[in-house]
Amino acid sequence: MKEQIAQVQLDQLQSTAETWSPQHTLAWAFETFGNEVAISSAFGAEGMVLIDMALRVRKDFRVFTIDTEFLFPETYSLIDRIQERYEIKIERVFSLLSPEEQERVHGAALWTRDPDQCCNLRKVEPLRRKLCELDAWITSIRRDQTSFREGARKIEWDTKFGLVKVNPIADWSSKQVWHYLHEHGVPYNSLHDQNYPSIGCTHCTRAVRPGEDPRAGRWPGTSKTECGLHIIQPLTPSPEADA
Ligand code: SF4
Repeated sequence: MKEQIAQVQLDQLQSTAETWSPQHTLAWAFETFGNEVAISSAFGAEGMVLIDMALRVRKDFRVFTIDTEFLFPETYSLIDRIQERYEIKIERVFSLLSPEEQERVHGAALWTRDPDQCCNLRKVEPLRRKLCELDAWITSIRRDQTSFREGARKIEWDTKFGLVKVNPIADWSSKQVWHYLHEHGVPYNSLHDQNYPSIGCTHCTRAVRPGEDPRAGRWPGTSKTECGLHIIQPLTPSPEADA
């Protein structure tokens, strides 16, 4: 019933919300859900925009990250800088399996043989666990990033995880993101300056070459473009993911 009510209210709000600025959308989310909403961030350029904006809207808000334990040193360093500069505590969510346990159970370098299962274990299941605590989550996805994201609304019901999903910069371009970062002196991942427009785990991310799609450096050599967090079709959880 709660879900049906939420969906009806969202249907009525959706068109209006499409005219809102990111700041207005964030303010609505914080006012509506209080401590039951959190920003999900992997600290890419878009994520940094949202964190900076959120602080200008409200001082105490929640941010969490899915720490796959395979992130770049530059990403871990940025997390430390963000916590210091913005005086916020970033909630870290881990897989139920350590990298060593994953190797013992699933064999070495699972990401090379079955990246979907690896992402399921290290990203999707931890996210599902985290979202169970919340009534809404805020993401920094943009519609022009991948085909899966082009239908994203600024406010929508997340049918995959069963809560409200807020995408304040869904209609922004990459140019707007970088304009904001430079204009406000926002820190960002130093890998962006080394031709890494999109940054994930060390095992599955490389720099892009001139003329390549900005996401060509993610899961190179495979058709995979998403880790599964923003794909609507439910992924089949592995037995370990349910444990
Ligand atoms: S991005 Fe690669 S290493 Fe990271 S969780 Fe997914 S498959 Fe595993």
